[in-house]
Amino acid sequence: MTPPVKHAATDMPRLVALPIFKNELGTLCVAEASRHTGFTPRRLYFMTDVPAGGVRGVHAHKSLRQCMICFKGAATVELERRGSRFRFRLDRPDRGLLVPPGCWRVVRDFAPGTVLGVLASEEYDETDYIGEYADFLAWEAEAAAKRGVPYLDPTRSLADLDGEIDAAISRVLRSGRYIGGPEVERFERAFADYCGAAHAVGVANGLDALTLALQARGIGRGDTVVLPANTFIATALAVSRVGATPVFVDVEEDTSNIDPAAAAAALRPDTRALIPVHLYGHPADIDPLRALADRHGLFLLEDAAQGHGARYKGRPCGSIGDAAAFSFYPTKNLGAFGDAGAVVSNDASLTATVRRLGNYGAENRDEHLMQGLNSRLDPLQAAVLSVRLGHLGEWNARRRVLAERYREGLGNVAGLSLPAVRPWAEPVWHVFSVRVAGGRRDALQRHLEVAGIGSNIHYPRPIHLQPAYRELGLPAGTFPIAERLAVEVLSLPLDAFHRDDEIDRVIDRVRGFFSAARP
Ligand SMILES: *Cc1c(COP(=O)(O)O)cnc(C)c1O
Repeated sequence: MTPPVKHAATDMPRLVALPIFKNELGTLCVAEASRHTGFTPRRLYFMTDVPAGGVRGVHAHKSLRQCMICFKGAATVELERRGSRFRFRLDRPDRGLLVPPGCWRVVRDFAPGTVLGVLASEEYDETDYIGEYADFLAWEAEAAAKRGVPYLDPTRSLADLDGEIDAAISRVLRSGRYIGGPEVERFERAFADYCGAAHAVGVANGLDALTLALQARGIGRGDTVVLPANTFIATALAVSRVGATPVFVDVEEDTSNIDPAAAAAALRPDTRALIPVHLYGHPADIDPLRALADRHGLFLLEDAAQGHGARYKGRPCGSIGDAAAFSFYPTKNLGAFGDAGAVVSNDASLTATVRRLGNYGAENRDEHLMQGLNSRLDPLQAAVLSVRLGHLGEWNARRRVLAERYREGLGNVAGLSLPAVRPWAEPVWHVFSVRVAGGRRDALQRHLEVAGIGSNIHYPRPIHLQPAYRELGLPAGTFPIAERLAVEVLSLPLDAFHRDDEIDRVIDRVRGFFSAARP
């Protein structure tokens, strides 16, 4: 039985298979509302006797859905929706073309004798019908302005990858191998290569990647670890989870990354590790930290959860420290359909220990060398990640294009600072974080929100001021830059699937805020 038709959030035009029965009495083909069309048809029309070279059906509907079926012969349907174009050749009765609302539509190249049927969700309604292409474009622009701009729509990448993802998932389901195995090994190999490192070990999430890397290096009770005050809290939680104590340091004002001079000043005799974070996808300044780590015998662990594909002086993030921790949380530049993470390193003994720790500390089925835990990358997520890794280069390139668009559109707005890029950095724009001075950040966020434009704050409270770290006794004022960033930063929509016109709407709206008369 065919599963029920669901209209995905992306609601793209697509073909649906219709059951067909052939016997000596002839052929019977069926389209049902619940399983095939996804709507209850209220109207049927069909085209016949279209002269050679004829072009039909040139129009769009604002809210009506259709299912087009070629009963006999063949015809080509061209569709346009939100800037994407689609082309389908309908040449058999057991395929229905689902046409979502808001598609500009042209049918051409009819074979002689063609009968093309259309099931529609509504009866004819003149107010729903758009007959001129220019009117369609105007209507789309108006509808887009009303829809706003999502901060992030994780379903959009599916339109790009539908077939590949489905194939990968069904391959895993049919393999019978649901823990470990070749899918995980294949992704680990590919991801290590991508990072320019010798080894990668899949784990359950980014927090575990950080934790297991520290634990594998023997860092624990009585040790301190230096990390920036302005990062996602997981960086600090990993330190606490192994029993060590986080030592926060302030960040550079323009990149929001750990300040190497502050890190040097914060070292204590019991410091065993440094964790720079490639925040927002801009690499941290690793060379001075590397020198510091070498001088004092410290473990240099990159938190690369926001830096997949970023480069520092030409070298990929993840290959520069002694080890790197990655997260494949769904919203990261490389994301899974759930939680996932990895530790990457050139140190084979370190990654072997991480693997063992994440698998109950087991050497083999019956021998447990250490008190480990269960933290593994699922083959299902690994198969998805392998597909997506193949597209990461093009997605990061698209992020760069959009960051450049913001830079051109917002470069000269008084009161607004754009993120700095160091000459040696190739950032991947995990987040496009601007700064708004003068206590107006929250007002800008509201101004965007009423226009339906999503935004975010990374991060509204530095870790030393979180209740979870009250025990450290660090009062407000300890890290003035991190604390100022917390009240000034605002992340604008930017991922690989935002359209140019969406970014332009954000730019217009931000400019409008700053050009409006000040209170
Ligand atoms: C996302 C993130 C993590 C944690 O990753 P999870 O997979 O969510 O556990 C750690 N550090 C940074 C900087 C992150 O952005």
